[in-house]
Amino acid sequence: MSWAARLLGCAAVRAAGRAFGSVHARRHIALSTTLVASCKDTRTCRVNFAEEELRKKLSPLEFHVTQEKGTEPAFTGKFAEHKGKGTYGCVVCQAPLFASQAKYDSGSGWPSFYNIIRANAVSHSKDRSHGMHRTEVTCGQCGAHLGHVFDDGPPPTGKRFCINSASLNFNPSAEEEGGAEAVEEAPVKPEL
Ligand SMILES: [Zn+2]
Repeated sequence: MSWAARLLGCAAVRAAGRAFGSVHARRHIALSTTLVASCKDTRTCRVNFAEEELRKKLSPLEFHVTQEKGTEPAFTGKFAEHKGKGTYGCVVCQAPLFASQAKYDSGSGWPSFYNIIRANAVSHSKDRSHGMHRTEVTCGQCGAHLGHVFDDGPPPTGKRFCINSASLNFNPSAEEEGGAEAVEEAPVKPEL
């Protein structure tokens, strides 16, 4: 299914959900909203957001990638060719994930990093979807899907973190913004 079709499909499901009028359907939707949230395992995530909040806060693509393990098409993400100096954080909870110094051009069409910004910034899990054996990478703080990690990266780690732009935001360094006055710590605390 194409990316556009996936988005249309997602939008269609949401529209159908809003159209439900019966009491039973309303109860069902309320229950789903309670159960479906950003973190799939509350024992491992430090922050958790309700699906309803995330649908307001994120773009449809950001929601699809981070909450439904989606993948943006190669060479279309805003950070695929991005070369700014600073820190890439989680688009959902703002936790710092990758430093620009660890970003490199892998030729894959997705932002690629050879290391994470600090221990436990991300979590790993086995992903056997689409007939492949891959290691999924999620935000260590909120559980948002980020992408996958492979063993074909450059030294010194040999790792290639292949990450969706839609999972990331970017906080430029003071140098990038052009002066010491612009120095400000990136917000780590969840906004919600
Ligand atoms: Zn996060």
